[in-house]
Amino acid sequence: MITKLSEFNAPAFESIKQKLGGEGCFFGIALYDQHNRIIGTLCGLDTKPYAFTEHQMGLAMSLGHLLSQTIIMEGLLIKDTLTNLYNRHFASSYLEYEKNEIFALIYMDIDRFKLINDSYGHHMGDQVIVKIAERIERRLGPEGIACRMGGDELLIIHPKAASLSVNEYLYEVERLAEEFITIISEPILIQEIELSVSVSIGISLYPLHAKDMITLLKNADMAMYKAKRNGTKIEVYDRHQGKTLARQLMIENEMRKALERNQFTLHYQSQYDLQTGKLKGFEALIRWDHPLYGWISPGEFIPVAEETGLIVPLGEWVIKQVCEDGVKWLERGGQPVHFSLNISSEQIKSKRFVERVQAIIKKSGFEPSMLKFEITESIFMNNMDIAVQIITRLKETGLWTALDDFGTGYSSLSYIKHLPIDCLKIDRVFINEILESKGDQAIVKAMITLSNELGVGVVAEGIENEQQHEYLRESGCHIGQGFYYQRPVPFDTICSKYIQIET
Ligand code: C2E
Ligand code: MG
Ligand code: MG
Repeated sequence: MITKLSEFNAPAFESIKQKLGGEGCFFGIALYDQHNRIIGTLCGLDTKPYAFTEHQMGLAMSLGHLLSQTIIMEGLLIKDTLTNLYNRHFASSYLEYEKNEIFALIYMDIDRFKLINDSYGHHMGDQVIVKIAERIERRLGPEGIACRMGGDELLIIHPKAASLSVNEYLYEVERLAEEFITIISEPILIQEIELSVSVSIGISLYPLHAKDMITLLKNADMAMYKAKRNGTKIEVYDRHQGKTLARQLMIENEMRKALERNQFTLHYQSQYDLQTGKLKGFEALIRWDHPLYGWISPGEFIPVAEETGLIVPLGEWVIKQVCEDGVKWLERGGQPVHFSLNISSEQIKSKRFVERVQAIIKKSGFEPSMLKFEITESIFMNNMDIAVQIITRLKETGLWTALDDFGTGYSSLSYIKHLPIDCLKIDRVFINEILESKGDQAIVKAMITLSNELGVGVVAEGIENEQQHEYLRESGCHIGQGFYYQRPVPFDTICSKYIQIET
């Protein structure tokens, strides 16, 4: 449309209008992006009124159309169609060349996003990402560039303000990451369903943490992975992290094969009645002897198994193996003592856990009253009622329960009276320095009194010498376990050691 300049009222053209003295003519052709939004105008100006011919106008229209098409194509190439954030392609090409400035990569991943997709469908998952993208963009503004790297992964490229030192800047970036955590965790309402979403964030700094962009991105991703695994929410990349992560990935891959290849075994550690000195039972502790990497400790692979869900088949293997060993123990003439085994909270939460445990015990022909399940406090943290229900049902099958690593989890003791447990197992951190530390002595005594009041048993683990043994015996602790009596050993060793002596 051609407009006489004197009639055209866009403020942006005010100065031009003044220069032209109010005469002349103007045309503007709107330019659209892929979302059909006007993002600019192709303009023509002339000092004479009605200067443009129809032919010129036609040409300008075609040019405008062509420009819009180019913008749309560009947009599709560099923008994510779902969120309208920049896409991976853009981020990679942006980061491709070395920069003169210092900047941070803030890498975000939505926690348990798969669960949202699986429970509510992909459409809902998409909506969640859109909402999160909006919140990020609103907070970020022109401070940085937000990109969607694919799936539920988002990246923010954030340049350092010239006035800040690197340390000050890092502090700023961490605060910004905290802000993102807060604004994203506000409930998201979609189709009358309210969802709570959280993200984990990894941060890497250019050029401090890598000079090439592929490594810088990988480092931010690794930091994010660590934040997720440790539940810390935000982690800044550190150089020593690479090695441990590679090992975790190795463990994850190798563990999948290890069960089929019979690389796991159980070792047993004896437990004694501290007052009478009699054998009370054994704790089964899993061992992994990898043909290439040697012994890998449960402290290292159990958390990986829990995170990947492998704990469910692995834990079932442990129950089955303990039952089979227990049957053998009795067949060989062993006393009816307790066989304790560790159950992870991830296992308990798995589907039909109680039924599967019952089936395993039944199939093995082992006596359930000789089994004791050691459970850590963490199981009661999220949903106490459900955990209590499951453990009550387990106990109905006749087995015993112990609260493992007692004292390291919950801060409040009041919950204990509600738990269907038979025994408290004092964590070895309280036993380590029991002879020297007045604080540990007070705590352990309180735990013994508490268990007596509640009418449940109490076990001290990690007893390493005679003095510790004496101290605990005199304090009235019921059962002791530790290297002082016996290190964990293979099943055949406990048989040859205890069946002869005890019978
Ligand atoms: P936990 O259940 O508290 O097991 C006791 C740990 O203390 C064992 O470590 C044992 O070897 C160690 N220990 C025993 N006596 C002493 C002592 O006198 N001094 C010292 N310093 N340590 C002692 P381990 O075998 O490395 O197991 C570590 C943890 O891994 C266990 O802690 C348990 O939480 C987990 N775990 C072991 N086996 C299994 C399993 O089959 N399933 C599950 N879910 N977790 C397991
Ligand atoms: Mg244990
Ligand atoms: Mg323990």
